[in-house]
This record gives sequence, C-alpha cells and structure tokens, in this order.
Amino acid sequence: MLDYLSLEADLDEEERLIRDTAREFVADRLQPEIGDHFENGTFPTDLIPEMGEMGFYAPNLEGYGSPGVSETAYGLLMQELEACDSGVRSMASVQGALVMYPIHAYGSEAQKEEWLPALGEGEAVGCFGLTEPEHGSDPAGMETDAERDGDEFVLNGSKTWITNSPIADVAVVWARDRSSGEGEGKSESTDESENPVRGFLVETDRDGVTTDEIDEKLSMRASVTGTVDLNDVRIPEENVLPGVSGMKGPLSCLTQARYGIAWGAVGAARDCFEVALEYAGDREQFGGPIARFQLQQEKLAEMATQITLGQLLAFRLAELKERGDLRPQQVSMAKRNNVRMARDVARTAREMLGGNGITTDYSPMRHMANMETVYTYEGTHDIHTLVLGQDLTGIPAFE
Ligand code: FAD
Repeated sequence: MLDYLSLEADLDEEERLIRDTAREFVADRLQPEIGDHFENGTFPTDLIPEMGEMGFYAPNLEGYGSPGVSETAYGLLMQELEACDSGVRSMASVQGALVMYPIHAYGSEAQKEEWLPALGEGEAVGCFGLTEPEHGSDPAGMETDAERDGDEFVLNGSKTWITNSPIADVAVVWARDRSSGEGEGKSESTDESENPVRGFLVETDRDGVTTDEIDEKLSMRASVTGTVDLNDVRIPEENVLPGVSGMKGPLSCLTQARYGIAWGAVGAARDCFEVALEYAGDREQFGGPIARFQLQQEKLAEMATQITLGQLLAFRLAELKERGDLRPQQVSMAKRNNVRMARDVARTAREMLGGNGITTDYSPMRHMANMETVYTYEGTHDIHTLVLGQDLTGIPAFE
C-alpha cells in the first residue's frame, strides 16, 4: 500500500494491529460485496454488530466499553474503512463521532450507561440530526424546536439527509429550546442566550417520529440516508444532553467527524491509486503495458504525491489531537484539502481504467461518486474555505 514517506514505519504495535485488523476485515467481509451494495443502494446491515465487535465505533473514546486507542489508530481505522467505501466509513463515523462522542462528552451518567456500550457493540444504531430542508450550511438557522411541558419536552421539526436514520434506534437531534418564553408564546429568535440549541436523545420508536429513506442518490449509495420528522414528539427531560448548550454542541461533534474524514479520504484516494497502478501494469495497448507511457506515469506520480501530502496532514492532525492542541480550523484545512484531493485522484484513476473504469468491477468511479457527498457534507468545501479565510484574515465572510 502506498506509504511513500514511510509514515507507517513509526506506528506502535497497537496502531499496526488496528490497521491490519481493519484491512483484513475489509478484504474478507466488506470488499467482496461492496460493489453490489453500491449498485443496489443498500448497506451491509448484518455486519453492524460484527463491526462493533471489531471495535470500529469510537475506539478513541475511553470508558463505557471503549478502549481509548490513539488518535492515529483511530485515523488509520477510518482510512481502511474508506478505502473500501465512504458509506462504510460514514456509518462508523456517525455512530462514533456524531452519536457516541456527544453522549460521552455531554451526556448524563444514565445516558452514558444506557447508550455507549450498546452503540459501541453495534447492538444499537445511532444517527445525528442537524441538517434541515431549509438549513444546510447555516444550521444555526434551524427551525426544529423543543418546548418544555412539565417534566417533558415536545419536539417539532424536520431533519433531512441524515445518515443511518432509517436504521437508527436513537437520534441525537439538535433543536432550539424555546422554553424561556413560557406563558408568553414562543419566541422565534435564534439568539443563543434566549433560545439555545440543545441536544436531545430521541428514540426512533417514539410516537410522532418518522424516518423515511432518501433512495434516489447517485452518490454514497452503500449508505442508508433519510429524514427524521418530529411531530409533537414527547421526550422526558432525562433525554436532554445536560452538558452542552448552543451551537458549540453540534459543531464540536462535527470537528470529531471531520477529523475522521480527513483520514478516510486518504484511504479512498489510496485505493484508487492502487487500482490504477495495477491496471496500468496489466493493461496492454500498442504492444505493451500502458504503464510505460509517460502520460500515464505523470498521472501516477501526481496521484502518489498528492496522497502523500494528504497522509502528512492526517498524521500531523493526529499528533495535535493527541496532545489536545488541535483547532477546528486545522481540521477544516485537512478535510477541505484531503477530500478535494481524493475527488481529483478518483477521477484520474477512473480515466486510467478507460471504459472498464465506469463499471462497478473497479472501485475508482464508486469512490468518485462518493466523494461528491464527502465534498459536500460535514461542511461544504466552500464553507471550509470561508472558515480558513476568517482564521487567516480575522474577517468573517459569512455569519
Ligand atoms: P447548501 O447549504 O444549500 O449549499 C448549496 C451550495 O451553496 C454549496 O455549494 C455551498 O458551498 C454554497 N454555499 C452555502 N453558503 C455559502 C456561503 N456563505 N458562501 C459561499 N457559498 C455558500 N447532515 C446531518 O445533519 N447529519 C447527517 O448524518 C448527514 N449525512 C449526510 C449524508 C449525505 C449523503 C449527504 C448528501 C448529506 C448529509 N448531511 C447530513 C447534510 C450535509 O451536511 C449538508 O448537505 C451540507 O451541510 C450542505 O447543506 P445543503 O445540502 O443544504 O447545501
């Protein structure tokens, strides 16, 4: 596997083991059927508990059944999963970084005990509801709200584009708590001090919850995506995440997930490169392998260089995260760069495979289609550009 600067030579024993176990699991259990899942628009749900047994969901957290592995080990895991398919990494990212992380960081003791072991083992599936039909890049404008009624909250609103929602047992729903204007009618303000965004654990079998699958996707087909509609859904106040209030809650989860994406995208790009390299050696035109043509070599050289730069970024992020110095803007830079890189590499690899490259027999076009989603979700490429622009100039170009 491409590791041009021998970055993996410095892995410790545990990191090596986690990488190798994930690589083997992907090769034996996922790879053989992933093309069919992509074609059929399905996820291998039967493997969800097995992936839990393998420790694929938030192994970087500590306690409640999670071993607290290094951030490098976690990154390598995301890389191996996405080398198979972004849908597989997305499932694990959502379960780990977007559902287990907020419960671990902001949940009550009872919430942690109820959910973390079950989610970690893949006995329960979670989803993360932030995006709404009218609020994607601007989630702070969300319309989903929660109103207190005695010792319950009543939730109303619609979330869309929610990974895992049709197969989820629990949704982490981010909604505006409009309880402060009690008795005087609810305030429509999005002011955090008046109506803060809060996280609610909503079991999907509660009355008033519906999750419909979005199945007309041309990207991320081996992933289940849907809506979470909330119609007068009553939840006890014990289901509110007590440890966070405001947009910091969902944004801090997204930083965790984006960290995994920065690593995962490198895996997808690496897989495209490996496939193109092998194909170029095997495929003969004009009396010999196409790998002997300078034009093809230039493509391989460029892909290998860009992947290596992406690996360097990912490894450095891991070091910063491990010592608690990682800033969200640094994660933005890596997510933005590595996903764009993987999108470009996938297209070049597809091109090198000629006509065969457009079939599901080879992975690059599947990765290429997936990268359209990865480029857009968890903050679009444009939004991360603006985040960096603000960080560099001190001037926000967006609210
Ligand atoms: P919009 O925000 O409408 O953006 C449209 C275009 O406008 C983009 O190109 C964008 O970059 C650009 N744009 C927007 N604002 C600006 C600006 N200020 N300046 C310049 N350009 C701008 N969400 C969840 O909450 N949970 C999930 O599990 C989840 N999973 C997903 C799975 C899939 C397969 C997909 C496709 C999406 C998922 N999402 C999820 C939603 C995803 O995060 C949003 O699609 C994303 O945030 C972009 O929002 P939008 O699609 O509404 O696009």
